[in-house]
Amino acid sequence: MNRISWDQYFMAQSHLLALRSTCTRLAVGATIVREKRMIAGGYNGSIAGGDHCIDSGCYCIDGHCVRTIHAEMNAILQCAKFGVPTKDAEIYVTHFPCLQCCKAIIQAGIQSVFYSADYKNHPYAIELFQQAGVKVKQVEHRQLESMKGTEKDELLTDLLSRLKELVEDESEMDELKRRADRIMSGS
Ligand SMILES: [Zn+2]
Ligand SMILES: [Zn+2]
Repeated sequence: MNRISWDQYFMAQSHLLALRSTCTRLAVGATIVREKRMIAGGYNGSIAGGDHCIDSGCYCIDGHCVRTIHAEMNAILQCAKFGVPTKDAEIYVTHFPCLQCCKAIIQAGIQSVFYSADYKNHPYAIELFQQAGVKVKQVEHRQLESMKGTEKDELLTDLLSRLKELVEDESEMDELKRRADRIMSGS
């Protein structure tokens, strides 16, 4: 039997979370993991209750959308909100973190960063991670499409049940289930 690795598993989780992004510019997902357990997840989106870019358009200043909080930041803040330690944790992100998130990751005591896609990898971010002794590793994301039917179903069902522990809003969970169902049915 072909079991997926932990890296693949947590990266798939982040890609699932990225589907929740409300910014049209880039969909990013992040999962914080400690001792092989997901402790928080985030995607890039507006503050709770705020206007969404997908409804109101991006709020761009100097070429950046300022409406959204980045996925990594949201995951770290979820830990802050609920008093979950991030020291010595790992973070799985769909894209290489920006400079601001890089600093937040280091300052939160996270020790490893796994990312799947290169994204304007800032030399200063790379330097800061090195200085702080944070391990950075690129993890190839195996596309869900390339998995066999049952394997895909099992993974998505498993991820959704774990995700339920991380997502507060029930309507969000329902929407995620609908989107996962669409992926499973291949439409
Ligand atoms: Zn936006
Ligand atoms: Zn960022």
